[in-house]
Amino acid sequence: MSKKECVRCGGCKALCPTYREDANEAMSARGRAVLLKKFSRGEIKPSKTLSDRIFSCVLCGACSRLCPLGINITDTIYKGRNNLRGFTKRRIFCFGLMLGFQKRYAVFKLLKVLEGINRTFPIYKIRPFKPLRDIDIRLAGSPLRDGVSIFRAVRPKGRVALFAGCATNFLYPYTGKALINGLNSINYDAILPAVEVCCGAPLRGLGFEKEAARLAEKNIRAFKKLNVEAIISLCPTCIHLIKNEYKGLIGDGMDIAMEASQFFSSKLKEGGNGLKDFRLQSRAPKLNIVSANRLSPLSVIYHAPCHSIYNLDAGSEAIQILKSIGFNIIDVERGCCGFGGTFRFLNQRLSEDILNRRIGEYRKADMIVTACPGCIFQLRTKIRDKRVVHIAEVINEALG
Ligand code: SF4
Ligand code: SF4
Repeated sequence: MSKKECVRCGGCKALCPTYREDANEAMSARGRAVLLKKFSRGEIKPSKTLSDRIFSCVLCGACSRLCPLGINITDTIYKGRNNLRGFTKRRIFCFGLMLGFQKRYAVFKLLKVLEGINRTFPIYKIRPFKPLRDIDIRLAGSPLRDGVSIFRAVRPKGRVALFAGCATNFLYPYTGKALINGLNSINYDAILPAVEVCCGAPLRGLGFEKEAARLAEKNIRAFKKLNVEAIISLCPTCIHLIKNEYKGLIGDGMDIAMEASQFFSSKLKEGGNGLKDFRLQSRAPKLNIVSANRLSPLSVIYHAPCHSIYNLDAGSEAIQILKSIGFNIIDVERGCCGFGGTFRFLNQRLSEDILNRRIGEYRKADMIVTACPGCIFQLRTKIRDKRVVHIAEVINEALG
C-alpha cells in the first residue's frame, strides 16, 4: 500500500462498479484498500474469502483517479493479487490462462482445431472443455499480425507502430486493418512488428507480476528499436500498460503510446484541416454508417472505456471526431461495461450485472462506438440488433 495513509473518506467508492452492484463495504474500493492494509500488517490471514474480494475488482482504475490523497488503490490490488493468487477459486483455470497468454499463437491454433471439432461433435459440453464454452469466444479466421509487416502509404510523411494486443489480433483483426487503412490514407506508414507479445495486463490481473514483467521487457526491447512517431493500439489497457504501468513493473515505459482517436485528432489539427475531413455530408454515400433512409444522421452513443478515461485522459477526441462526422451524439452517464479482461470469466454474474446497468440507455442509440475490443466483446453479448464498432472503423469509413 502507498505510504500515504487512507483517511477512509470514501471518495474512491463513488464510481466503483462492483460496489454499485453489491453494496457491501468489502466489495468497494475503500473496503479492498482496508483489507489489504490489514493483510500487509499480518492482521488478517490469506484466505479464499479475502482472495474473492480482491479478485472481484474490475481493475477499472476509477478509485485511484478519485482518491483525493492520490493513493493508487489499483496498484495495491495488483500486489494483493500477487500474494493471494494461490487462494483464487479457479486456480487451475487462472494458471492455464497465464500460460496461454505467453504462448498465444500456439493456443490460437489449438483453439481453432477445438472449435472445428466442436462444430461437428460438441466437446465443449464435456467437463475438461467446459471453460471454453463459458468463455464463449469466437476466434478470427487468422490473426492480424503474422510476421513482420509494413503497410506503406502512397506518399508517406511519417510512420507509426501498431501494438495489436491479444483481442485485436485474435478476435477482431478487421479493426486493426481499418486502423492501418486509415493511417495510410492520412499518409502514414504502419508497422506491425513481429516480436510483439501480450502486453501483460491479463497476467498481472491474475497475480502473475513477474511473468507480466518479462513480457513488458520483451515489448519494450522490440518497440524501442523502431524509429516511429507513435505507438497506437486499439486497446486502452495495452496503452495504459505500455505508457504508464511498465514504468512501475520494469522501470521503463513509452510515452508515445496512444489511442487511435488521439493520433488522428492531433494529425488533422496539425494539418490545418481541423476535423473537416470527417464531414458526413460530403462523404455520406460512401459510408456504411448513415441511417437507412440517409436523411438523418445516426444517433450514436460513445462508450468510453475505463482505462481511456481514468488512465489516458482520452475520450474527448473520439467524441469530437464523431460530432465532426455529423452524428447525433447521445450523452449518457459514463461507466464500466463489466468486461475487465479476465474479470469477466472469473466473475461472470457480477460482470453481467454491471453490464445490465448500462444496456437500457444504450438501446436508445442506432449505433454504439467505443475504443476497446474488450468493451466490444462485452457489449455485443447483449446488443445484437445494432452495430457496436471501434472508433478506428468509423474513422476509416469516414476517410473513405
Ligand atoms: S478516497 Fe483515498 S483516502 Fe478516501 S477512502 Fe478511498 S483510498 Fe482512502
Ligand atoms: S479498480 Fe474499479 S472495481 Fe476495483 S476497487 Fe477500484 S473502482 Fe472498484
